Amino acid sequence: MNPNQVLGEENPFEAMQARFDLAAAKLGLDPGLYQILRRPDRELLVSIPVLMDDGSIHVFDGYRVQHSMARGPAKGGIRFDPNVTLDEVRALAAWMTWKCAVVNVPFGGGKGGVVCDPGKLSIGELERLTRRYVANILDILGPDRDVPAPDMGTNGQVMAWIMDTYSMHVRSACTSVVTGKPVGLGGSLGRIEATGRGLQICAREALQVLGMRPDECTAAVQGSGNVGQVTATFLAKMGVKVTAISDITGALINEDGLPIDDVCKHLQRFRTLEGYDGGDRITNKELLELPVDILVPAATENVITSRNAKDVRAKLLVEGANGPVTAGADKILDEKGVFVVPDILANAGGVSVSYFEWVQDRVGMFWPEHEVVSRLETMMVKAFADVVDMAKRFEVSNRIAAYMLGVDRVADITRMRGVYA
Ligand code: NAD
Repeated sequence: MNPNQVLGEENPFEAMQARFDLAAAKLGLDPGLYQILRRPDRELLVSIPVLMDDGSIHVFDGYRVQHSMARGPAKGGIRFDPNVTLDEVRALAAWMTWKCAVVNVPFGGGKGGVVCDPGKLSIGELERLTRRYVANILDILGPDRDVPAPDMGTNGQVMAWIMDTYSMHVRSACTSVVTGKPVGLGGSLGRIEATGRGLQICAREALQVLGMRPDECTAAVQGSGNVGQVTATFLAKMGVKVTAISDITGALINEDGLPIDDVCKHLQRFRTLEGYDGGDRITNKELLELPVDILVPAATENVITSRNAKDVRAKLLVEGANGPVTAGADKILDEKGVFVVPDILANAGGVSVSYFEWVQDRVGMFWPEHEVVSRLETMMVKAFADVVDMAKRFEVSNRIAAYMLGVDRVADITRMRGVYA
C-alpha cells in the first residue's frame, strides 16, 4: 500500500463510491451494471527509473487508471504530486467518466499520477521522468485509447514531451494523443481559460436560478493556479466583487474587492501571493468561512468536510477543484440550503475544450477562439440545465443529479454494447 494512502471520509475513491451508490439506487441501476461501473476497468502501476542530475538513479511510482472506455477513449489528466495515491487517481478517473458523460463528449474516464515533487526537480529531470513514465504506459495510450491532459503539477511543456515521446515510438507525429498542448503544437485556442470560463458560466446560470444579480455579489476563490486565477478574472469581469483569493501559502482579503488583474500579474511574476500588498492575510480555512455569496474551492480535494461544512456561509458553492467537498459534508451543505454546482459539472469546461482540441487535431483544421468559446458556452449551459432538471425531477441534490445523469448515460451505452465474452 502506498504510504500516503488515506482512509475514511477523506479517501476520494470512497467519496466517489458513496455518491455513485446513491445515484445508482435512485436510478434503480441493474446490479450487473452497478458492479461494472463502480470500479475501474484497468489500473497500471509502473516504476519509473530516472537518472538524476547528480548521477544517481531515483525510482518513482506512477499510475494510470482507466475507469471506463465505454463511451470512447479514456480521457483525463496526469498529476505530478508528492501526495498522489492510487485511490486518488481511481477517484479522479471515475469523476472523468461521469464528467465526460454530463457534458456529453464521446470520452470515457482516466487519470494518471506520479509520486514526485515537480518543484524540486530540474527541467532535465522532469523531462526524463515524463518520457520514461510515458514509455512505461505506452501500450495503453493512443488517440483512440487513452488521451492524457494536464493536471496539478503538469503543464503544456509536459504535454509536449508526452506528444513527442509517443510520436517517436509510433514513428509519426501524433498530436491527438494528448490535450492541453501549446497552441503551436496542435493545442486549442481557449484551452487555458476553458475550466475557469466553464465555472463562470455555471456561476452565472446558478445566480439566475437563485434570483441574484452578479453585480450585487461577492466571491472568495480558494487556489490561484490555472483554475483559480481564470475563474476570479471571469467572475470579476461579470461584475462580481472578488474579495478573497488564496494559494498554498494562505489567503488575501480585501472587503472592497481585490484588483484581480493586478493580483494575477503578481502571481505570474512571483508564483506566490506572498508579498502582495493589496489586501490583508487570512488562512485558507478562514477563506472558506467568509460571509460571501459565492465560494469557489479551486485548489485541491477535501477542503470542506463534515468538520467545517457547518461554517460555510456562502449561498452558492461552485466547485473548481475535483472532490473539494467530502461525502460527509454533502448532507450538511444540503441542510443549510447551499446551492452546490458539483465538480463533475462545474469544472467540465476543461475537458470540453480538450475534446475540441482532440477533434481539431484529428481533422487537422483549427478553429478561431470565438468558435471554441461559443461551443463551450452551448455545452455548459445545456449540461447545467440537464443537471438542474434532473435534481428537480428526482428531488435530489445537484451533486446526486449530476452523478445520475453521468451514470445513466454510461450505463446506457454499456448496456447497448453488451458484455463481451
Ligand atoms: P494548479 O497547480 O495550477 O493550482 C493549484 C492552486 O492551489 C495553487 O494556487 C496552489 O498554491 C493551491 N493549493 C495547492 N494545495 C493547496 C492546499 N492544500 N490548500 C490551499 N491551496 C492549495 O492547479 P489547477 O490546474 O488550477 O487545478 C486546481 C484544481 O482544479 C485541481 O483539483 C484540479 O484537478 C482541478 N481541475 C483543473 C482543471 C484544469 O483545466 N486545470 C480542470 C478540471 C479540474
